[in-house]
Amino acid sequence: MAAVFLVTLYEYSPLFYIAVVFTCFIVTTGLVLGWFGWDVPVILRNSEETQFKTRVFKKQMRQVKNPFGLEIANPSSASISTGITLTTDCLEDSLLTCYWGCSVQKLYEALQKHVYCFRISTPQALEDALYSEYLHREQYFIKKDSKEEIYCQLPKDTNIEDFGTVPRSRYPLVALLTLADEDDREIYDIISMVSVIHIPDKTYKLSCRILCQYLLPTQGQFHDLKQLFMSANNNATPSSNSSPEGESTDRSLLEKAGLSESEVEPPEESSKDCVVCQNGTVNWVLLPCRHTCLCDGCVRYFQRCPMCRQFVQESFALRSQKEQDKDKLKTL
Ligand SMILES: [Zn+2]
Ligand SMILES: [Zn+2]
Repeated sequence: MAAVFLVTLYEYSPLFYIAVVFTCFIVTTGLVLGWFGWDVPVILRNSEETQFKTRVFKKQMRQVKNPFGLEIANPSSASISTGITLTTDCLEDSLLTCYWGCSVQKLYEALQKHVYCFRISTPQALEDALYSEYLHREQYFIKKDSKEEIYCQLPKDTNIEDFGTVPRSRYPLVALLTLADEDDREIYDIISMVSVIHIPDKTYKLSCRILCQYLLPTQGQFHDLKQLFMSANNNATPSSNSSPEGESTDRSLLEKAGLSESEVEPPEESSKDCVVCQNGTVNWVLLPCRHTCLCDGCVRYFQRCPMCRQFVQESFALRSQKEQDKDKLKTL
């Protein structure tokens, strides 16, 4: 029926026929594109891109400056009998106070106190909050901007060989870093850092490591410091980022705006390349896996982490566009 109509129409006036067919084509194309939101038809898109439309979870972050850095130098050689060497790196003059055999329960009670009213800004404040529930205490002065190696050891006369069977009621070592100068406490958001360190002994030989690090801000709360995972195939700058040393020297910390438990330390410099395009600078942290492997351009295409295939629930940028622009201006 339509064919007969078209043939008759063509015979009657070829020009009018072409006009009718062309109009029909335009209308159909318009309808199809309109159906897909005036975007590329779905057949031409790749699957990751079509899925992306459903996900925009950008975590709101707040940047804070942490004046403290603490690491274990040579963890494999540390033990209760031989002691431990800690490397500190602080932006201001600070005090490192080491509490051996610190009560687990009292430590968490002390952190809770900090959240509510009693701010732990000095070693004395922590000791009061702990009700002196520790076995031995040592204190060292840390000069600002100097990487210092501090050797701590339990004195022989304490006769402590282990801290009992697991689960333990005492942590082997709790290291507190506080600002030495009272005026500095006004400048920084973070007033102290508590590091919980495991040191192997006779009954529990798990290798020496930092179990957790808490940053204590001026306004109360405490934040659990978390590491970011970056790919290790860094051909251009083999030295810094993947090593723990590189990570602690950068103290601009990013913190969840509303929630308290997660705080992450960005890499020293964003010189690493994106694992997908191998070109853009890595800038996005995927949560919950904390893989830091995507650039600004690639992050939108991934609903799953390209490193571990875990679904990405949220993500946040290490550096906002504004900061990047500022840095570019500085280098020009
Ligand atoms: Zn990329
Ligand atoms: Zn991952």
